[in-house]
Amino acid sequence: MAIERTLSIIKPDATRRNLTGKINAKFEDAGLRIIAQKRIQLTEAQAGKFYEVHKERPFYGELCEFMASAPVVVQVLEGENAIAKNREVMGATNPADAAPGTVRAEFAESVGENSVHGSDAPETAAEEIAFYFSGLELVG
Ligand code: UDP
Ligand code: MG
Repeated sequence: MAIERTLSIIKPDATRRNLTGKINAKFEDAGLRIIAQKRIQLTEAQAGKFYEVHKERPFYGELCEFMASAPVVVQVLEGENAIAKNREVMGATNPADAAPGTVRAEFAESVGENSVHGSDAPETAAEEIAFYFSGLELVG
């Protein structure tokens, strides 16, 4: 297994409920290291660019509005098999389908307001990390 990096976002429903620390404890307990992190407020246009891949989906407008509704914490997680491991800790997109103990099972409010984002493949991880961070901000 290779050491990978993946983009993680703690979404507005979670920052609003002060869950940043509880969520990051799950990532750290799974062996993922937070090697870059910042709290930012996205505009709807910025959220739209980040989620451009979903622009034809019916939930796109609502998703962009939600992502701009409160601050988010964007971060880079590093570790063995980090992309898949992060998604395992996150749980399924719909919290009703998420395995017990996962972030989404414990904290997500709905399929849309589901507390966390995680990259889904090496190519998207590299693109998504570059969307939010410069190389100088990745500090191991
Ligand atoms: N989403 C939604 N309704 C859906 C599917 C997805 O609102 O039916 C939102 C949800 O916030 C999800 C995001 O769009 O996390 C991106 O969807 P994707 O299928 O990529 O899920 P993820 O990779 O986040 O599990
Ligand atoms: Mg996705």
